[in-house]
Amino acid sequence: MQTTTVTPTITQLTRVHFVNAFLVREEDGFTLVDTTTSGAADDLVGAAKAAGAEIQRIAVTHGHGDHIGSVDGLRSKLGDSVPVLMPELDARIHAGEKVVEGKLPGSWPKLETRPDVRLAAGDRVGSLEVIASPGHTPGHVSFLDTRDRTLIVGDTYTSFGKAAVSNHFYLRFPLAAMATWDKSKDLESARALRALDPALMVVGHGPAVAAPGAAMDQAIARAGG
Ligand SMILES: [Zn+2]
Repeated sequence: MQTTTVTPTITQLTRVHFVNAFLVREEDGFTLVDTTTSGAADDLVGAAKAAGAEIQRIAVTHGHGDHIGSVDGLRSKLGDSVPVLMPELDARIHAGEKVVEGKLPGSWPKLETRPDVRLAAGDRVGSLEVIASPGHTPGHVSFLDTRDRTLIVGDTYTSFGKAAVSNHFYLRFPLAAMATWDKSKDLESARALRALDPALMVVGHGPAVAAPGAAMDQAIARAGG
């Protein structure tokens, strides 16, 4: 697992070169945002220890397998005193409810762990504010670090080569568009995230983008917006 310090409070953990999770430092330890694919629990816990604190809670941007893949592994390793926080609609999908018509693209592997908290827009997770960004999945959320306006956008954008909205096919990372549920909602969310004027954008797939305003504008324009 590759470790990159992206801000004084956020460390990016990258697995198999293209799947990111994030350690967000709080006074009581770390919030782990996303968990990558299955089998990463030991590496994620080890990365937190190496960075000097324990994982205190696990929050995910959405329910796809490359973001929730190690939730069960972390639960069995860390126990239920470390809560799992998941966006409301994606948690309901994992609970077996039919929340939208039609088929849901992307991978939705079986999850044993029941999220302890269902996240809604405006909730706070330590220093992070939960921002609704539906489209890639029905419940997809982003997290704004209110200390420095770093925005964790999950899969609304990717950043291999350049920033791209996940609503359309992009050769450098086609998986994101293939897994996107509602392309017009995804683009609407991309615009809403841009309007937050983040100082730094970090993504589920790709490197962090500093001062991302212009890159987000260009991505939105290419996405048909
Ligand atoms: Zn995804």
